[in-house]
Amino acid sequence: MATKYIFVTGGVTSSLGKGIISASLAKLLQARGYSVTIQKLDPYLNVDPGTLNPYEHGECYVTEDGAETDLDLGHYERFLNIHTAQANNVTTGRIYRSVIDKERKGEYLGKTVQVIPHITDEIKYRIQLLGTRHKFDVVITEIGGTVGDIESLPYVEAVRQLRYELGAENSLVVHLTLVPYLAAAGELKTKPTQHSVKTLLENGVQPDVLVLRTEKSLGQEIRRKVAQFCNVEKDCVIESIDVSSIYEVPMLMQKEGLDQTVLRKLNLSSEQSAKMDEWVEFLDKLHHPESETDIVLVGKYTSLPDAYKSISEAFLHAGVANRTKVRLKMVNSEKVTDENVAELLGNARGILVAPGFGERGFSGKIVAVRYARENDIPFLGICLGMQCAVIEFARNVLGLSEACTTEINIHTPYPVIDLMEAQKYVTDKGGTMRLGAYPCTLSMDSLSYKAYKRKDISERHRHRYELNNQYLEALSEKGMKAIGFNPETNLAEVVEIPAHSWFVGVQFHPEYKSTVLNPHPLFVEFVKAAMNKA
Ligand code: GLN
Repeated sequence: MATKYIFVTGGVTSSLGKGIISASLAKLLQARGYSVTIQKLDPYLNVDPGTLNPYEHGECYVTEDGAETDLDLGHYERFLNIHTAQANNVTTGRIYRSVIDKERKGEYLGKTVQVIPHITDEIKYRIQLLGTRHKFDVVITEIGGTVGDIESLPYVEAVRQLRYELGAENSLVVHLTLVPYLAAAGELKTKPTQHSVKTLLENGVQPDVLVLRTEKSLGQEIRRKVAQFCNVEKDCVIESIDVSSIYEVPMLMQKEGLDQTVLRKLNLSSEQSAKMDEWVEFLDKLHHPESETDIVLVGKYTSLPDAYKSISEAFLHAGVANRTKVRLKMVNSEKVTDENVAELLGNARGILVAPGFGERGFSGKIVAVRYARENDIPFLGICLGMQCAVIEFARNVLGLSEACTTEINIHTPYPVIDLMEAQKYVTDKGGTMRLGAYPCTLSMDSLSYKAYKRKDISERHRHRYELNNQYLEALSEKGMKAIGFNPETNLAEVVEIPAHSWFVGVQFHPEYKSTVLNPHPLFVEFVKAAMNKA
């Protein structure tokens, strides 16, 4: 069958949850047997979000193929249980870069290079690549930003052209808007939706389906009004009412018949019903935990929860797997000192030290590791968190008080964490870290092996610095063992302290691979250890 393309646009305001609606629709189609992928087009000029501070745009999500991407790709993977790749996230910066590269090579044969058609052609090419090369039945393309923004215009124009080229049966526009409730008037207001549909129409795009975010149930009259004023069929007005968990949204969309409507419009069979049994079981466990488990995340981006999105979702999945509700408290590492650590981390049954870069908040992370190690509190250190675990151990157990990572102290006499050889001549910041999936071999007598239940694993990375193998022996003699190595380069990827009840540091990012249907084994075991901690 020809690939069907669904475009998801947003109006009225940002942050309405286009990513979750896209992932939910994709989930429902996938559950009916269709192969589906989702793509995010981001209208900013960065080539990728890898150079963005997490406060700008939330967490940077890393794919198997080492692409640094928007955090929505994390939702796509967690919902669909599939891998995404570089092709699933394209920014305006990337589009312009390829067009300008082609221009420099003379590939436009003397033509004037313009937004239309050259930029729009490049956008259309990137959208269709997922269909033509990867042969998905359905490609859902989420257009970042809000319609009416100057920077979204070329994308909307590309959608307009593609709709014409692909035909109505092979393409569809889902537009997500907000229906605000005015408490003073006691009324839900549809005008912003009407205006944002008008904006789309001004750009030549008539949406087929409207998804309306709302705090209150819409009622038939509002649906009828929106359908009439926005030229869509009545069953194409879909209500998306606020829910307590993003994982509820697929069921909500199913109840609203979004998948049914979309299949009808795309002329696809809806005979096969969506098999959502496992999902429903997950939700049931999510809503009926048998206990609560307090875990503290120590990191420096704690005032924006999106900065640690994949970690908090991995805890949610692992909680469900253990029938417990993980109450994740975020503690700003800049605030943690020897004096207040007991007060700040006191009731934690598990401590996670988060990934990160640079000196700010570093010393608080070291204090948190020490607190976990000395008080036998289950500990998971991820990336910089693992590096901090090694540095803390070197300082306080090996007695190398000036031990450090050369990222923070280039002159340290004990560089227990040091720049990788391959990184020494790198000057550009963008896309140059050790990125993406690498294999790792675990020792069989380790907590990690017990979690994964296998020796050979593969995990995703995003770092420049690495445990310095010259210190492995000294660390091991005093009780910190490197138990996971990259089989080709011999880089140490996992450390553990066998004398501690559960202490694991990983150079990679397990959180990127935790999904609803496959909670990550390290998080599952970590939460279990935390539950067992009296
Ligand atoms: N800053 C450290 C490095 O580059 C850790 C990176 C991270 O935590 N993702 O090696």
